[in-house]
Amino acid sequence: MPTFTAGSLYAITYRIASAMGSEPDEAAEVADHLVRANLAGHDSHGVGMLPTYVRLLHGKLLVPNQELETVLDAGALLVLDARRGYGQRMAANAVRRAIARARETGACVLALRNSAHIGRIGTYAELAASAGMAFTAFVNVADHHYAQATWGAAEARLGTNPFCAAVPGPDGVAAMLDMASTTIAGGKVRVAYNMGKQLPEGALIDAEGRPTTDPAGFTRDRTSALTAFGKHKGSGMAIMAELMVTAIAGGQRADEEAHGGVVNSMLATVIDTARLGGVAAVGQSVAATRAHITSARPAPGFSEVLMPGDPERRYAATRLQSGIEVDDTTWSDVRAAAVSLGITEAEIDALVAAPTPV
Ligand code: NAD
Repeated sequence: MPTFTAGSLYAITYRIASAMGSEPDEAAEVADHLVRANLAGHDSHGVGMLPTYVRLLHGKLLVPNQELETVLDAGALLVLDARRGYGQRMAANAVRRAIARARETGACVLALRNSAHIGRIGTYAELAASAGMAFTAFVNVADHHYAQATWGAAEARLGTNPFCAAVPGPDGVAAMLDMASTTIAGGKVRVAYNMGKQLPEGALIDAEGRPTTDPAGFTRDRTSALTAFGKHKGSGMAIMAELMVTAIAGGQRADEEAHGGVVNSMLATVIDTARLGGVAAVGQSVAATRAHITSARPAPGFSEVLMPGDPERRYAATRLQSGIEVDDTTWSDVRAAAVSLGITEAEIDALVAAPTPV
């Protein structure tokens, strides 16, 4: 399995995004987002997404350099339509606007509609937290084959509808939960399939609704479905995310006609902690809770108790040092996507050999 520095993956990603038509600021936002997802350990949302993005571009289902359309600008309520713009830039710009609004009003409720895939939601939580904002987000997935079987169902009806929440501290994120409402994210099935691995028990059901660990039924045949995490509770959260993001925020519903794209919509809240004691005080309170939680005796099979967000931080520290492994299938798919845009094999090798400082 080839191992790359973050800078090498950034260089090839920036080049691919540029060849897709993105202006430099968008190509940089996409490259930064995807490489940081790999660094955080979420290979499902890293550079392995590029072949999908190129397919979406060719199908006119992803629009480079799109501008957000303001649907409603009413004090603490901001409704923006991304019109299938490149999700990493659309969502980041939407959250930047929400942060600016929250500085004026104390808080902002942001509805972002109809973006192309926005990737790892934690990226936007980090953006908000680095501005001293607390952040929550429900996200849904539409225009896509159904991925998630809700509780009691033998077949899929929803996307992997993620949830994210973060509290800030003096150094950015103090704690962050960022997760799919399925037992594992859909992209992790793709990664397992590409690596020839089985999935953990309980994550997937086959076409008859029976448990399976074979990723092929989901990634290749589209007959399997991901289970919701936590039985009826995760399933209920996925359904409520769907309702919050569609019935309330006006995003595209999972049941609307699909064209083979990936459309994410998001209902987020951004709260300015400067109005609530300031980020230093928030950080102290979080530190006390962290000490309380992590002081618990580890259960059998565990060496320590962690806070949400800790695994990503540790992954990033390790991968910055030792590099990021990309499985052979994913790497050859990324290369093929680059070649389809007119980038030569020799240029790909040269880009990887001359990493961009990250
Ligand atoms: P996951 O199961 O790896 O982790 C989920 C959360 O659990 C993280 O916040 C992590 O810090 C925390 N965690 C993990 N191990 C822990 C431990 N031992 N102790 C305490 N906390 C721990 O994540 P996932 O559900 O596979 O989601 C992966 C990514 O996929 C996320 O970044 C999510 O935003 C993204 N996603 C995006 C979409 C989309 O449509 N854009 C859809 C679904 C998921």
